[in-house]
Amino acid sequence: MNNQNNNNNYFSSMPIPLFLSTPSTELEISQEEFCLFHSIDRELYKVLVFNLSRDPRISMHVLAFWIWLERIGYRRLVQNLLRLPFAIVNQAANEAVTCLNIIKGIHSYINVDVPVTRRILADREFSLHILATYRNFAVQEVSQILAEVCFNALSDIRTIENLKVPSEFGSFYKRHTSDLGTMSLFGLGNRNQKTFRPKKSAPSGSKGAQLQKHIDATLGSGNLREAVKLPPGEDFNEWLAVNAVDFFNQVNILYGTLTEFCTASNCPTMTAGPKYEYRWADGVTIKKPIEVSAPKYAEYLMDWIESQLDDETIFPQKLGAPFPANFKEVVKTIFKRLFRVYAHIYHSHFQKIVSLKEEAHLNTCFKHFALFTWEFRLIEKAELAPLQDLVDSIIQ
Ligand SMILES: [Zn+2]
Repeated sequence: MNNQNNNNNYFSSMPIPLFLSTPSTELEISQEEFCLFHSIDRELYKVLVFNLSRDPRISMHVLAFWIWLERIGYRRLVQNLLRLPFAIVNQAANEAVTCLNIIKGIHSYINVDVPVTRRILADREFSLHILATYRNFAVQEVSQILAEVCFNALSDIRTIENLKVPSEFGSFYKRHTSDLGTMSLFGLGNRNQKTFRPKKSAPSGSKGAQLQKHIDATLGSGNLREAVKLPPGEDFNEWLAVNAVDFFNQVNILYGTLTEFCTASNCPTMTAGPKYEYRWADGVTIKKPIEVSAPKYAEYLMDWIESQLDDETIFPQKLGAPFPANFKEVVKTIFKRLFRVYAHIYHSHFQKIVSLKEEAHLNTCFKHFALFTWEFRLIEKAELAPLQDLVDSIIQ
């Protein structure tokens, strides 16, 4: 380690906002010049997407994060990454996803480490604690880079990639979901990679991806009531499908942060407060409801949902493939079951959520979930009873 301690706190020397208008209209540069300006960023993005087969969308976020690090003083990070073996870049990208989860407030920084990133940034301190402390600022900056630089400088690369696999764009995403690198920003940190499943991608190919983008964009506006509405002209089933995947991922992450606390000994039954207990039956392999521990129940439940999402006769992956007649019923069962995980989290693990500083995130996720299921009447009123007051306060 060298001794440049003048910047122990890398945010300390940094006025807000710290940079800089990006090359934009006022400079009147052409798209080609803009891309040239970002040529090494483009090179690194190609490594992520082509050489490492990482998710193109998430790779943009990863790159935005790295560009941001450069801007706050970690000079030549992108260039240095390009000199490293792909396997190391891959690890660094996984860690960037972890960092993004931290600044998004999805993950606590506690017990998390990013050894590869620290090694690459060796000439200056890098602290997840500081990252977490300044996370609102970081999110704002990274989002701005994403919007102003990455979308402009990298979108054509994504287009090329899309053209490369035109007939199986949906499965292109799907194929890589087993790799940690494809976990979204809302995916999991290393802590849970063994116990929890990777994020699922939006169904129905580019259409699903487009609707997913719509969800991300409307959520960004902060108005959840608007965000849940069927976008004008869109197919209702597509909308249900994309949201089902999205909510499954959210619950997966939230519950994933609790797997070390929600154990068979702490939670021997799947309860939602003293009055409600759930028993598991899927109606196929297990017909008669069985009493299982909460983690076992959650495992059955998430496995079952995942099997529905993976079933192409229910959630078609190909553009234009029809949805089954009972699609809404399946979706309703998925949402009914996801609700039970929320109910268990609120009743049995809320204190833990608070200590992990995840309660704002939990509340936002649940509010979104409650508004969506209310908008399309997806959950029967009786099912909502364990969280009735909370639901009423949200939908009133
Ligand atoms: Zn539990």
